Amino acid sequence: MIEDVLKLIAPHSCVSCRQLGNLLCDGCRESYVVHLPSRCFLCKKITLDHRSCDNCYAKTKLKHVWVGAEYEEPISTLIQKFKYNNAKDAYKIFANFLADVLPHGLPSNMLVTHVPTANNRIRVRGYDQCELLARKLAKQRGWQYSRLLLRVTNARQVGSSKHARLHQMDGAFWAINQNEIAGKEILIIDDVVTTGATLSACAKTLKNAGAKTVSAIAIAQTCE
Ligand SMILES: [Zn+2]
Ligand SMILES: [Zn+2]
Repeated sequence: MIEDVLKLIAPHSCVSCRQLGNLLCDGCRESYVVHLPSRCFLCKKITLDHRSCDNCYAKTKLKHVWVGAEYEEPISTLIQKFKYNNAKDAYKIFANFLADVLPHGLPSNMLVTHVPTANNRIRVRGYDQCELLARKLAKQRGWQYSRLLLRVTNARQVGSSKHARLHQMDGAFWAINQNEIAGKEILIIDDVVTTGATLSACAKTLKNAGAKTVSAIAIAQTCE
């Protein structure tokens, strides 16, 4: 209701071409959806179906990591708006985008969850962007969604080496609803992947709680 009123006052415009109507117009959406080559998300070695290579699997416990796009215009602007400027509607665009990126033929009993946003940010914005995405994507694919992770610390990843960051995040999450995790193939939804440290910490937490496999999908990945 309030959202509808706000829309009347300030209608959305395309973050790329400024056309009024949607946050990303159909034309611009067509031009940015480029399927990235299938590779290990961490070392970029070419692998089948976005699997982690053996080395990176040992480090991260992530089986597959699908990434929708490079973190560049116009996606980066839309993600910024989604995360910080109350562009809540963008979750519909991104959920469709992720549904296009994700292969068909994944297990029908896949369990979907999300990387929880730090609580102080949810308080400011009123929504957890990854939870919205996860719920929508699960619904589209007929999968169950469950909240499985709790953020314990607000550990920041700034100013340390890639290696240090991978370890710094360990222990940053707790598994909740543990009875749902055992033996499951879990898909974690995230918005932006940088070092993979956050996703890896989530994967290790879920594996320790008994998950059979943990994979992830993110809207975009930054190039370092
Ligand atoms: Zn446009
Ligand atoms: Zn690798």
